[in-house]
Amino acid sequence: MKRTPIQIKLSDSRKEKPNPENLMFGRSFTDHMFVADYEEGKGWHSHRIVPYAPVTLDPAAIVLHYGQTVFEGMKAYRSADDGTVRLFRPEENMKRLNLSLERLCMPRIDEEAALHALTQLIHIEKDWIPTVEGTSLYIRPFVIANEAFLGVAPAKKYQFFIILSPVGSYYKEGIHPVKILVENEFVRAVKGGTGGAKTAGNYAAGLKAQEVADQRGYSQVLWLDGVERKYVEEVGSMNIFFKIDGEVITPAINGSILEGITRKSILQLLRHWGVPVSERKISMDEIRAAYDEGKLEEVFGTGTAAVISPVGELNWDGYKMVVNNCKTGPLAKSLFDTLSNIQTGKEIDPFKWVTE
Ligand code: PMP
Repeated sequence: MKRTPIQIKLSDSRKEKPNPENLMFGRSFTDHMFVADYEEGKGWHSHRIVPYAPVTLDPAAIVLHYGQTVFEGMKAYRSADDGTVRLFRPEENMKRLNLSLERLCMPRIDEEAALHALTQLIHIEKDWIPTVEGTSLYIRPFVIANEAFLGVAPAKKYQFFIILSPVGSYYKEGIHPVKILVENEFVRAVKGGTGGAKTAGNYAAGLKAQEVADQRGYSQVLWLDGVERKYVEEVGSMNIFFKIDGEVITPAINGSILEGITRKSILQLLRHWGVPVSERKISMDEIRAAYDEGKLEEVFGTGTAAVISPVGELNWDGYKMVVNNCKTGPLAKSLFDTLSNIQTGKEIDPFKWVTE
């Protein structure tokens, strides 16, 4: 994709921008989008930025039947002081997009060219990036198999899109802990499956458990392994961390867990601070034992949307574990503040994570 120039066709009209004080997640989209096409033998071509518009698909398009599609999620932040736009580790998202593409038998993208396209698109849409505290521009790159064919086989035709959506602050009333239901019946992913890829089927598979959790008054589910329902995997669509007796533990990447970029950054930050961390298997039995001994100090999820989401209660088959009196723990708070400040340019970035 690198040497291919991007054709730009600007929209004749501009949409009204939503009120930055009142933004919903993923409901409004900017005026333009990036698109590229792929055909077997020809590779990626026709890179273009065009007015945001519905996509035309043949009803037999492979993506609609067999779910051959992958996506990414990342954010751009704009400073209210000087208008500087910042991206957080965007190269990691493009790298992960390629890992997902490979898992789904889809053609790789050129990461550098994709980053260039993203930068161009954001430049055109920079007025859409809200500057109110906590707000950002959510970036959704995705690839779909658009070949019309009902056979179960990797498609020969694909489209790559990047769309943008201004989003509000995740914590309008300040960072607060959530209640989590440990899921003993349904599983999100299994070892050898597609859990390590960011692909639609994983999210469709998770809806049922989420629906049950909602009905019972819990905000997310804690996913366990697909074989024994014994080991912890993820929380909703976030990675999970436990602070037990001074040590921070997160499940090791095993093929069924999505390797979050926030997870990776949190691990780096904790090691930088000299906090003992370990990436390993952790069972619900171990968590319950730690809780009973008064050693379960903090639990929190990590992801692009919330950065850090503290867990205030874990319900495991009716056994309720209330963590840190259902208050945000000091470690979760420090991690949230530091990472948010690095992302928005309020704090120096010793890791060179931010691209301006
Ligand atoms: N797990 C799943 C299943 C997710 O969808 C996400 C969000 N991308 C994460 C973890 C967290 O990943 P990241 O920190 O890159 O947002």
